[in-house]
Formats: sequence, structure tokens, C-alpha cells
Amino acid sequence: SEGEEVHQGRVISRHGQHLLVQAVNGQQYHCLFRQNLGEIVCGDKVLWQPVADDQGVVVSLLPRNTVLSRPDYSGRDKPLAANITRLVVVLAPRPPPTGYLTDQYLIAAELIGVNALITLNKADLLSPDEWQAFQQEFSRYENIGYPVISVSAKKEHGLEPLLEHLKGQTSILVGQSGVGKSSLINAILPHRDEAVGALSETSGLGRHTTSVATLHFLDNGAEIIDSPGVRSFRLGKIDRRELETGFREFSPYLGKCRFSNCRHRNEPGCALIEAVEAGNIHPERLKNFLHMAEQLD
Ligand code: GDP
Ligand code: ZN
Repeated sequence: SEGEEVHQGRVISRHGQHLLVQAVNGQQYHCLFRQNLGEIVCGDKVLWQPVADDQGVVVSLLPRNTVLSRPDYSGRDKPLAANITRLVVVLAPRPPPTGYLTDQYLIAAELIGVNALITLNKADLLSPDEWQAFQQEFSRYENIGYPVISVSAKKEHGLEPLLEHLKGQTSILVGQSGVGKSSLINAILPHRDEAVGALSETSGLGRHTTSVATLHFLDNGAEIIDSPGVRSFRLGKIDRRELETGFREFSPYLGKCRFSNCRHRNEPGCALIEAVEAGNIHPERLKNFLHMAEQLD
């Protein structure tokens, strides 16, 4: 019978115990879910059954490829969004970026298992020469395989290349407050506010929708998960081994130090220090690693 039918769907947003699920045909359903399924979040893939015109019940949670989580008040990791494939790290001349924070985002991307894209915003603020110098500071990231692109959300410049990088990906934008994340989202999702408004009307769940992580579909097939909570995502608690693997260019050297418990500070025969001296690792990256390692101790 109709009630037994099971469909695949995608979680667009979650409001308490209510999920907004998009079916393969694009229609959206207001679903409840069984408590034994655990935490279900924006971006999750689920199986669900229709119960009425625009209502359904989620009966299972499909395996996640990736999950972005963050500790809750009790320190326990709580998922924020699922099945992300790309972390867009937004930086700008103002507020000035710190290599330390940039590295934290890149490490988070490595540990979640997603590709990072460095997006330099506010290109309109500097002269072409100044912008070139600003960009130059990020060539060390390009050298280790992170693409770096320039945009201006304000002038709507560089959005096409950005959209090209987002195509076929499920992305989130992260970065310091004030770098222009919401401006960029508005530039690439001009109808977002209407869509979110309509969503909260049909779901009857009131006005707090903009603070809820929401999955948006772009015309070119790109998916963007947006919410203030997701945008301000930061690297959570990690251990030393995770920190080491978060610096992707360190990998050929890990385990090659003379001492197996090498902390890569000033030990003789440290493979990482030798790689810095040989020009294969940027000194700033090892410096940031050592700073972060200190925070762990
Ligand atoms: P968020 O905190 O990262 O979401 O940043 P917002 O999008 O709120 O932007 C912070 C400030 O930067 C606002 O005053 C924006 O108008 C401004 N802004 C954002 N993008 C640009 C840009 O491309 N150029 C310039 N000049 N200002 C921008
Ligand atoms: Zn070492």
C-alpha cells in the first residue's frame, strides 16, 4: 500500500523534532522522525515514507560521507551538518587574516575529509598591485594544493569562478566575522531570503529559520549549507596525531624523525625541521603547528 512506500530524501533543515525533507522530484515534505535514529541534521540523506500530502515520516538515516560537528554545552560532539564536500574559507584584507586561523580551518577540512577552497573577498578594497601582494601571501597554500580565488561580494566580481568551484559540491562558508560570508551567500543565492521565508511559512515553525542550518540548491547543481552556526565553525578538540595529519604537506615526513616521540621543536634529526630547511615546508606552517601543539599540552 501507499503507506509502505519508502523514498530517498535529503534533509533541508531541522526544526527541533521536525525535518524538512526534499524528495528526489524536488518536492518538500514536513517529516517527523523516530527517536532511535539519533541526531539527524541538515544535509543528511534519509529514507522516508509519505503519510499525507506534504507530510512524511523519516524511517532511516543513510550513512554519512562527512559530518561537521561541534561540542555542545556538555562537551559532547554534536553534528551540525552532514555530507559536506567542500569548506570555503573566506578571508579578506579587512579584518586582516591570521595564518594561524587560516591553518585552523584547513586542518578542520583535512580532519573532516573535505576539500578546502580559499576565497579572498573584498578585492575592491585594494589597488591591483596591493591585491597582488595580498594574494601572494597565500601562494604557500596554493603550493600545497589548496586553490585560492579572488572575489568581491560587493561588486559581484569573480563569482563565476567561485560558482565553478562549487559545482557538484556541497559547500559551507567559514571565516572570521566581517570577512563577507553573508554578503557572498547573498550574492550567489539572491533568492535565499524569499526561499527561507517561504520555508518557515509552509513548515509553520515560525521565524527563527535563518538561524537554522539550511541546504540550498543552486542552478548549476551546487549545494550550499548555510547558517550562522555553520559559518562560525571552528576547529574542535583534537589530539596531537590528528594535528599532525591536519597539515597535509607534513605527511611524507611523519614518522621519519630520528626520535619516535619527536615534538618537532629542536630535536636533532627532525624530518619536519629538515624539510623546512630544504624549502619543502613553509616555515610559518611549522610555526603554527608548534603553536597549536602547545595549546594541546
Ligand atoms: P560576515 O560577518 O563574514 O558574514 O560578513 P558580512 O557579509 O556581514 O560583511 C561584513 C562587512 O563587509 C559588511 O559591511 C559588508 O558590506 C562588507 N563587505 C562584504 N563583502 C565586501 C566586499 O566584497 N567589498 C567590500 N568593500 N566590503 C564588503
Ligand atoms: Zn620531528
